[in-house]
Amino acid sequence: MLKIGLTGGIGSGKTTVSDLFSQLDNNENKVAIIDTDIIARQIVEVGKPAYKKIIKIFGKEILNKDASINRKVLRNIIFNDLNLKQQLEDIIHPEIQLQVNSELAQLNTQYCIIVIPLLFETKSDYALDRILLVDCDIDTQIKRTTQRDQVPAEDVERIIKLQSSQDYRLKHADDIIQNNNDLEQLKQQVRNLHAFYLKLANLNSG
Ligand code: ATP
Repeated sequence: MLKIGLTGGIGSGKTTVSDLFSQLDNNENKVAIIDTDIIARQIVEVGKPAYKKIIKIFGKEILNKDASINRKVLRNIIFNDLNLKQQLEDIIHPEIQLQVNSELAQLNTQYCIIVIPLLFETKSDYALDRILLVDCDIDTQIKRTTQRDQVPAEDVERIIKLQSSQDYRLKHADDIIQNNNDLEQLKQQVRNLHAFYLKLANLNSG
């Protein structure tokens, strides 16, 4: 099966694009979406193995009142400590990888999209066939993310600086969706790529 890795900077539109792929109305050629961001949240739910390992390292101070992990607090801690950031990644990434592989094994679609926000920043081994980048201008990224999350622009700028540069992403992507304009233009690009990926998937299987 053709495996497409979907990536892009913060607030570039990855979720919006993956939702559009999953809503394509051609039932015979449904696309499977595996979202590593969703998986990352699931594997740290209360009582899961990763949850226990994280508390062992970071202590109970990172917990909300309902015992769930306060992701914002955790993010702030690792922002200021690269060693702890590495330790957290060493716990989370193998678990994500396991879950992705188990979901992949159950699919029987012609192609699938694996949403990997930090595809260029972290190691993963999914044997991707293509990298699809959702690209948008930094000003748009900041505007949309501050509106969505109700956070100051400086917070978003700080994260953008830590992520791969727009240039780097553009150079290393196979396919690019431009998301500076309205949703209708986004939908059209998704439809075009869907047709392209189905063609590729058929070539691969034939
Ligand atoms: P993150 O990296 O933070 O998970 P993301 O890349 O998944 O973000 P989205 O959540 O899909 O990005 O998009 C960011 C915000 O911008 C959302 O509120 C979304 O509804 C909005 N948005 C995305 N694309 C467009 C568009 N073409 N026109 C208007 N709003 C958009």
